[in-house]
Amino acid sequence: MDFYKGNVLRVDLSAGTTTVEPLNMEWAEQYIGGKGLLLRYLWQEVPPKVDPWSPDNPIILMTGPFAGTNVTTASRLVVGCKSPITGILTDSYVGGSFAPELKFAGYDAVIIKGKAAVPTVVVIKDDVIEFRPADKYVGMATSEIEEAMRQDVDPNAKTLSIGPAGENKIPWACISTDQYHKAGRGGHGALMGDKNLKAVVVRGTGSVSVGDAKEFLADIYRIHKDYILTEDNLWANEEGTPMLTEIMSDAGVIPTRNWSTGTFDAVKSINSDAFQKIKTKNRACYQCAIGCRQWHEAGGMATEGPEYETIALCGSNCGVSDIEALMRFNLECDELGMDTISCGAVVALAMDLTEKGVKDFGLRFGETESYVKAPAMIAKREGVGAELALGARALANKYGHPELSFEVKNLELPGYDPRGSFGMSLSYSTSDRGGCHMRSYPIGDEIVAGTLPPDSLEGKAEYNMNGQNFSSLKYTGIWCDFWAIDADQIAQLMKHVWRRDVSEDELTRVGERIWNLSRLFNLREGVEPDDLPVKLHAEEHAHTDGASAGKAIGTETFRAAGREYYDLRGWDEEGVPSEAKLTELGIDVRL
Ligand code: SF4
Repeated sequence: MDFYKGNVLRVDLSAGTTTVEPLNMEWAEQYIGGKGLLLRYLWQEVPPKVDPWSPDNPIILMTGPFAGTNVTTASRLVVGCKSPITGILTDSYVGGSFAPELKFAGYDAVIIKGKAAVPTVVVIKDDVIEFRPADKYVGMATSEIEEAMRQDVDPNAKTLSIGPAGENKIPWACISTDQYHKAGRGGHGALMGDKNLKAVVVRGTGSVSVGDAKEFLADIYRIHKDYILTEDNLWANEEGTPMLTEIMSDAGVIPTRNWSTGTFDAVKSINSDAFQKIKTKNRACYQCAIGCRQWHEAGGMATEGPEYETIALCGSNCGVSDIEALMRFNLECDELGMDTISCGAVVALAMDLTEKGVKDFGLRFGETESYVKAPAMIAKREGVGAELALGARALANKYGHPELSFEVKNLELPGYDPRGSFGMSLSYSTSDRGGCHMRSYPIGDEIVAGTLPPDSLEGKAEYNMNGQNFSSLKYTGIWCDFWAIDADQIAQLMKHVWRRDVSEDELTRVGERIWNLSRLFNLREGVEPDDLPVKLHAEEHAHTDGASAGKAIGTETFRAAGREYYDLRGWDEEGVPSEAKLTELGIDVRL
């Protein structure tokens, strides 16, 4: 079989057994791979309304058809489950080299169910699968377990693991690979910890067939030359996402001191120029020609990142301008296995509650001594860390200040304040995994490119809908966000998989099909209303300083845009896709 291996590996941790079954190729035709196939399998494998902490809630690892080939950025992995934080879909994407190794071992996907009786490592060496006791690895940081697996399993082993945060079921524990890539959002690491699964390790000695290799390689050479080595993408290699820091502060949209302003007065201490001074190299995921991963060295640390979202949530949002303290916080989160967006958000909230005199957590905006210790206290649920591990929503509610929690569907928001980029309000409220910027990204046009007005919601419902459909298509690939790929380029690649000409319309429909299936999944599991923290849309909460001062979406305008979005989608006023829409898209499941 070309591009696909045709095999799904099932792992039952309760029984200690594995089976291999054929990949459902009808679903692969409809949903391609990555996000699409993941969702179709989740629909099938997640018992409706299951408790997310149930052993029956699976963790699914899914590759895309190009993983293991030399298509740039396409060797990523998506990890999915019913989120223990949000109770709905969570799909998180991670680079590195686990996905191609899984294909080389002979599998397109792994479905992990059950719960091991003791801490366990699952080792996949081609068709030999082992369950190894993990007692000696418990408590290891993420880089330590990766090194241990290279020593104990195979020097070329690729590892997906959890750190202490996952073992302690911290809600935003993530899954790590390739020092320090993360399937970051939605709590997969917590679920993995609950399953007593410390790591999944893979070593494969096979290959991926691409059909006519000569024809494929010639075309990939052309595609890389024409579309990859261009200004559209090279910024990612040169500066990476830190280049957004000053842009966002200047536009008044960088979360600062728990979202109390959108402008950080000390931004130059943690902007791209500051990181360029301590940059020592780039790293790349498997077969990626862009190589965006920025390596920095300072203060005795040598580490990757931080990316923009970390700079925003753990830097400005905590009032922190000390670049070494920020790097330390990021490194701690990486080694403990925690999502930095949620971790920064909850620490900023604790600082806010402290400064407002509500509860003294010993954390204050800009003070770094206790700040750098916070990730370890959270991961181990020690001291104030035990309360911070509740997450922003529960912590704010506990102390009677729900308005100080900035999340959507209990997923803490990333680094863009909708008060200065109105389109992001809908991006967040309608995202299929809660507060997320990666499904649609209007700020790219509203602020970065400046091609759309940032202080209007006119046309933004359609913009977000199209963006969500396209990201769903792109994540079938699984193409990285740092290749500015378009539907035409995807069509040029997909013709090698489908062995026929592929139209952009056909691919756009795939994206829309996936988005509607994710909506059905979320409705089935009981999704919260599509909303936004009141401070981010109500007139009376406009910022008073910076470039976004005085701007407010207005609650009625925000609600009207939400209704327009449902109309455009062919959904009813409750956000339920119509029968006509599901039939038009060829979706074969129903609520
Ligand atoms: S652009 Fe960066 S994150 Fe994306 S695949 Fe390449 S190295 Fe990995």
